[in-house]
Amino acid sequence: MAPPDTPELTTQCCIAGGGPAGLMLGYLLARAGVRVLVLEKHADFLRDFRGDTIHPSTLTVLQDLGLLEQFLQLPHQRVTELRGDVYGEQVTLADFSHLPPPGNFLVLIPQWDFLDFIAGQGRRYPGFELRMGAQAVGIVEENGAVAGMRVEEGGRQFVVRCDLVVGADGRHTTIRGSAGLQPEDVGAPIDVLWFRLPRDAARDPSRTGGTLRPGAMLVTLNRDSYWQCAYVIPKGSLDRIQQQGIEAFRRKVAHVAGFLGDSVHVLESWDQVKLLEVQINRLPRWYRQGLLCIGDAAHAMSPVGGVGINLAIQDAVAASNLLAAPLRERRLTMDDLAAVQRRRDWPTRVTQRAQVAVQNEMLSPVLARTGAPARVPLPVTLLQRLPLLQRLPARLVGIGVRPERVRTAPADLA
Ligand SMILES: Cc1cc2nc3c(=O)[nH]c(=O)nc-3n(C[C@H](O)[C@H](O)[C@H](O)COP(=O)(O)OP(=O)(O)OC[C@H]3O[C@@H](n4cnc5c(N)ncnc54)[C@H](O)[C@@H]3O)c2cc1C
Repeated sequence: MAPPDTPELTTQCCIAGGGPAGLMLGYLLARAGVRVLVLEKHADFLRDFRGDTIHPSTLTVLQDLGLLEQFLQLPHQRVTELRGDVYGEQVTLADFSHLPPPGNFLVLIPQWDFLDFIAGQGRRYPGFELRMGAQAVGIVEENGAVAGMRVEEGGRQFVVRCDLVVGADGRHTTIRGSAGLQPEDVGAPIDVLWFRLPRDAARDPSRTGGTLRPGAMLVTLNRDSYWQCAYVIPKGSLDRIQQQGIEAFRRKVAHVAGFLGDSVHVLESWDQVKLLEVQINRLPRWYRQGLLCIGDAAHAMSPVGGVGINLAIQDAVAASNLLAAPLRERRLTMDDLAAVQRRRDWPTRVTQRAQVAVQNEMLSPVLARTGAPARVPLPVTLLQRLPLLQRLPARLVGIGVRPERVRTAPADLA
């Protein structure tokens, strides 16, 4: 309960979290004529690496919104295929070039540039407000329904009253727990170590993809002047790896991907290596009266396929398609919120199931090997023998199942 003299604001929809899900939903609702307040606890979007991939399905959404050309003016890299070096054999894992344009490539762009871009689009609409440095600390309940959010900003507290609270506050969500919603854990046998290595654009291969060796897997994203690297480890094994020392880790990385050469020497301390504790979970129920969770707050995804941002945006598009009119006309019901879950639950489950299969059938066996001669996994062999099959992972990763299109009409600009 907030103290009785706490200042109050009112709006139609208050969104906790200015990540891909929250900002995209805030922008889409404001564009459709809804008054919306997005709260982001950090003062800016410039934070640790959290994934830089914008997938074909998001490019299609940007095209629906008439923003694609403008978006592609921002500095970015395009990826048309994902390559793999599987025990020394060069393979194409996914070929995006066959997907329908404009989404026939994947864009690598710093996430903060993407978020800044969407926030800028939102600000064009009179109903859009984004407050940076404002942290949601809990929900306000009245007669069993969620009626608003408690917020801390610059050392003061206030309450936002609204018809809908959205928890888009990521995997470490506050809103989900304060609303009493509990996720089911699906489990993941891996963690990931993220770090950057310098890249010599003139000399190094351009490949964005993965390298598999017995006992190790490394993903390298070409970011022009540097490699964004993801080293996959068995869950909970970071302590053991750290005990062996940073020098041993550098040797491992260099051994897995020889093309990185001397660049591994920039890794001098574990501070340069960030642990992503991989989680896969999902809410059995994404909503309560007056409240909805979307994105990672509703379902944390494995990094397999790099689809977390994509799914978060797809949730936002579906939620705005289904909720903009009821919110605008102040006739939102639980059925409207249930419809969002009905629309997005199945794509989430299918994607998580595919991630679990890759983790259990491919990654865990690779990590469990200790130098024994390794055979290229059967699915990879099939991908090479039957190039048409390369379109399937491209479609799953790039578009996913049940892709969303923007169905709302734009309101007047500010
Ligand atoms: C190291 C790493 C690498 C990743 N790589 C990829 C990748 O390559 N491709 C990919 O698709 N996905 C990747 N992901 C996953 C991806 O980041 C998420 O799936 C995606 O960002 C989810 O979007 P979201 O908006 O639901 O949540 P988030 O992006 O987590 O955004 C939530 C936002 O809410 C804010 N917030 C949290 N609590 C509060 C609060 N109480 N009040 C106000 N604001 C709050 C946070 O600061 C954050 O800005 C990666 C994640 C990590 C950690």
